[in-house]
Amino acid sequence: MSVEVPFLNLLAPYQELKAELDAAFLRVMESGWYIMGGELETFEREFAAYVGVKHCCGVANGLDALHLILRAYGIGEGAEVIVPANTYIATWLAVTHAGAKPVPVEPRLDTYNIDVERVSAAITPRTRAILAVHLYGQSAQMEELATLANRHGLKLIEDAAQAHGATYRGRAAGSLGDAAGFSFYPGKNLGALGDGGAVVSDDAELVDRVRVLRNYGSRVKYHNEVMGFNSRLDPLQAAFLQVKLKRLDAWNGARRKIAAFYLKQLRDLPGMTLPFVPEWAEPCWHIFLVRHSRRDALQNMLKAAGIGTLIHYPVAPHLSPAYAHLGFKRGDFPLSEEIADTALSLPIGPHLKLAEAGRVVEAVTAAARDLG
Ligand SMILES: *Cc1c(COP(=O)(O)O)cnc(C)c1O
Repeated sequence: MSVEVPFLNLLAPYQELKAELDAAFLRVMESGWYIMGGELETFEREFAAYVGVKHCCGVANGLDALHLILRAYGIGEGAEVIVPANTYIATWLAVTHAGAKPVPVEPRLDTYNIDVERVSAAITPRTRAILAVHLYGQSAQMEELATLANRHGLKLIEDAAQAHGATYRGRAAGSLGDAAGFSFYPGKNLGALGDGGAVVSDDAELVDRVRVLRNYGSRVKYHNEVMGFNSRLDPLQAAFLQVKLKRLDAWNGARRKIAAFYLKQLRDLPGMTLPFVPEWAEPCWHIFLVRHSRRDALQNMLKAAGIGTLIHYPVAPHLSPAYAHLGFKRGDFPLSEEIADTALSLPIGPHLKLAEAGRVVEAVTAAARDLG
């Protein structure tokens, strides 16, 4: 059967905003200016204001945003960075690309975010930072993490790549630590029409160092202060992002409606674990993730019913061949492995119609009852 409800429709946001996005495209094309410049600075100002921080520096993608934050803090060779064992591999890659060692900590099985209780035990004299992830669009326990970070003199860095517009006790993700990295990958809640990312922080010195690092280590063309990178956010993407940022809250609102509908309609299904939202979190529902012991069967049944799903993520980073050299083995992080083995993400997005969500509910309900 063909796909009736896609996991995510990436064309719909363009269709909704076609006139404005086309105008932004023409504006940049006709400006004759295609790297850095006014469009980028405007977006940086607007995005900093949206997050509620003083500074923003656009970069090429979310991985670079995190990597450059670590570099700018001088966290590299010999340093340890605490990361969730359960995250997208980019979180770990940022740490290893900076030359530091990722120290994985298990998540809580209710929120899937890093378990604060276990973080203390992972801190050593070499620990320099905690890299917290607001996984699936729901904030980590930032107050508790900040207390630990302060007590041990660590930087608290947010991987906010899935958390545009998510809040923690009413404050926006990205404004909760020392610095945060965002991704504007097309599928994220705020997505470009290509790759993009940003570093945000109140720390002017940090953001200034990132600005230098993203542009070949130079402030003045051909005068290089440090060995930098080429990691700039294109003015074209910045112009698109200015348009889409205006819609972010409305689009997150649409995601929240779908999430509320799923939470109500799918409760009490046999074998099914639904997302848990603590009272202090307002997620932006980047992903609506359920767990089921017969996940693969469930996914196949949904596929047969025309429902697109994805697995976030099928392989925990410690078991990825990319990190074979770290010497981890199955069983080292059993909660993260359990999530990787049972997780399934249902369709959710700003343009998913309630009727489509209804079809998802019917198919999931039928499949879960069949599987017992
Ligand atoms: C998407 C993502 C990233 C990386 O962003 P890119 O723009 O794809 O490089 C980092 N961390 C998390 C949790 C992500 O979901």
